[in-house]
Amino acid sequence: MSKLTAIRGFNDILPTDTAKWRAVESVLTQVLDGYGFSQIRLPMVEETDLFARGVGEATDIVEKEMFGVVHGNQNTGKDENEKSFTLRPEGTAGCVRAVVEHNLTRGDTPKLWYMGAMFRYERPQKGRYRQFTQLGVESIGSPLPDADAELIAMTAMMYKRLGIFDHVMLQLNTLGEAHERIAYKTALVEYLTAHFDGLDDDSQRRVSTNPLRVLDSKDEQTQAILLGAPKLSDFLGDESRLHFEQVQNYLHTLGIDFEINEKLVRGLDYYNKTVFEWVTDKLGSQATVCGGGRYDGLVGIVKGKPEQSEPAVGFAMGLERLMLLMETVNPIADTADCDVFVVASESVYMNAVLYANELRTYRPNMRVKMASATSLKSQMKKADKSGAKFTVIIGDDEVANQTVSVKNMATGEQASRAMTDFDFE
Ligand code: ATP
Ligand code: MG
Repeated sequence: MSKLTAIRGFNDILPTDTAKWRAVESVLTQVLDGYGFSQIRLPMVEETDLFARGVGEATDIVEKEMFGVVHGNQNTGKDENEKSFTLRPEGTAGCVRAVVEHNLTRGDTPKLWYMGAMFRYERPQKGRYRQFTQLGVESIGSPLPDADAELIAMTAMMYKRLGIFDHVMLQLNTLGEAHERIAYKTALVEYLTAHFDGLDDDSQRRVSTNPLRVLDSKDEQTQAILLGAPKLSDFLGDESRLHFEQVQNYLHTLGIDFEINEKLVRGLDYYNKTVFEWVTDKLGSQATVCGGGRYDGLVGIVKGKPEQSEPAVGFAMGLERLMLLMETVNPIADTADCDVFVVASESVYMNAVLYANELRTYRPNMRVKMASATSLKSQMKKADKSGAKFTVIIGDDEVANQTVSVKNMATGEQASRAMTDFDFE
């Protein structure tokens, strides 16, 4: 029989790393709380149609990255309605689905966040996995540029608090409105068609399926051709232009530097007006650590009533890439998971269990560990290795006197105290 291992592209996060993840997550949630955003918890599986319609048929995600699920009954692969289900490749579509389904916009402009696993069937490599974690944030109901700027400012605050702000760069662009993009697409397709033979294969295909995506082709020859291509900014109307300027004004006021990247189109269909990415030069080709933008049409698409849409803006931050970046530029020190280690001789081990239980009861914030009732020597070894600040030693004498011996692990000093004294500061 062969040994069973994890599936390619699916990672375990081991105890030394989970401590670091929790430290980062707590910084992120602190910032989210500081901006008054509320958590929403969403299912990991949705109807395939939600992504096909919401994310868009001609996107990388829907074209080639969706993870199907064998749904309903494992043996038949079917549920009662024979619908197709998909593991969520991103969170915005599901979040908007929940907002619409529960009417959260009635009389409110919800500001929401979620954190959790996303699934994409892509080629696993450093910073690119088949299961990965995103922090997603969606601000729904405001068409105004302050909403876009608020989200960008919040991401900047996160990077500052994590001590990595100097290693990320904000890129900004505007995609204008759908009707402006249609006019632009016509001009772009005309130009690309005239230079069709010079384009890379992917770009040739995209000329008819999703011409804007040609702009972010990595192919050098394609990029050379694009130098002479029409620019989307020349097709924008006053309203789109002003919106973009105002977003930039807010960022200037807040002291957040950015670079305008006219080739930034983002991979998802639902965006309009502002799009942004935070990129780093520390992670090779997996350079984007966060991406987002405005998606004023998505609520209507999910409702099935495009004319009843509601404006919205959001972003998604990839946590694995964030952790890799932290590891590279501002590593979090390994920390102990224990404050007090309780050891006892076998004859009084029961008393020690009771003592540890009381300590945990009276001092709920204290992390109290015990080894199993093996020899005192082997328990002491574990206490030494644990990184605990104090070791409490309980033997026959201590129990007889209702005391414990407390060893300060930093100084090596040992002192006796009452068994009911739980003060460890
Ligand atoms: P990329 O261009 O790197 O494929 P993307 O445009 O597909 O990214 P989004 O859909 O915008 O990414 O997702 C937002 C963030 O989620 C990315 O910036 C990245 O940090 C992270 N991310 C996306 N796909 C993966 C993946 N397969 N593995 C790890 N992180 C990912
Ligand atoms: Mg991708």
